[in-house]
Amino acid sequence: MVASPSKGASLIGANAMVALAVFVAGAASQSSTAPAREGLAAPEQAARNEMVEQQIAARGIRDQRVLEAMRTVPRHEFVPEQLKASAYEDGPLPIGRGQTISQPYVVAAMVQTLALRGGERVLEVGSGSGYAAAVLSLLASEVYGIELEPELHARSLATIKRLGYRNIQLRQGDGFVGWPEVAPFDAILISCAAGEIPPPLWEQLREGGRLVYPRGARWRQELVAVTKTAGGSVSRTLEEVQFVPLRRTP
Ligand code: SAH
Repeated sequence: MVASPSKGASLIGANAMVALAVFVAGAASQSSTAPAREGLAAPEQAARNEMVEQQIAARGIRDQRVLEAMRTVPRHEFVPEQLKASAYEDGPLPIGRGQTISQPYVVAAMVQTLALRGGERVLEVGSGSGYAAAVLSLLASEVYGIELEPELHARSLATIKRLGYRNIQLRQGDGFVGWPEVAPFDAILISCAAGEIPPPLWEQLREGGRLVYPRGARWRQELVAVTKTAGGSVSRTLEEVQFVPLRRTP
């Protein structure tokens, strides 16, 4: 079970269970394809392989590069020390300042939607622990992450430095305004909930680029994937999710 030390986290945990009930239905027909290397790997590697098979591939994530990235990034390095043992469980976890690292499946689903092929410049708004940015960094060439909370920003910076991710740049600030100096972006991941796409972010997405965000009110949203077209956009709604809100001040 997901640890629930705060009210916010337990609400999110409860929703993760609802999501689980929905997604497990589709899992029965999937066969297990656990890699043979499992026996030789560190315990965390075995836990990640299992996470990918049971929580992510089993729910229909098919992009092999996304699955491989989720098998590779050490999620336990991005969570608080006392929660390391829960790092590969099927839910979000608190990371401090009332914020959460997203459920692994939700990270994979959002990232798959961006359809990255390796050469892209990607922006993440709400980079939190740095975990999703690390996943993105294995799938694109440059990742820029903005986090509002100074404490989380400082910790994420230390984590990605310690782990040696070289193509991630992190900034503390209000992601609503984007990162105009390095725009345009080929893809934008908004990792906090918003009623609509902040206009500066839309401007900083190049034509043909993709953006994914949780659209909706405080405790209940739907994931929306939007492609920017010449003079317009094409949107598609994915599943229901629960993210912390996009705020303007820490
Ligand atoms: N993707 C993160 C988890 C994100 S939780 C991870 O992998 O760990 C959402 C984050 O959005 C929180 O850390 C919150 O502080 C941040 N946030 C909220 N409003 C923001 C804003 N206006 N600009 C940047 N970050 C914001």
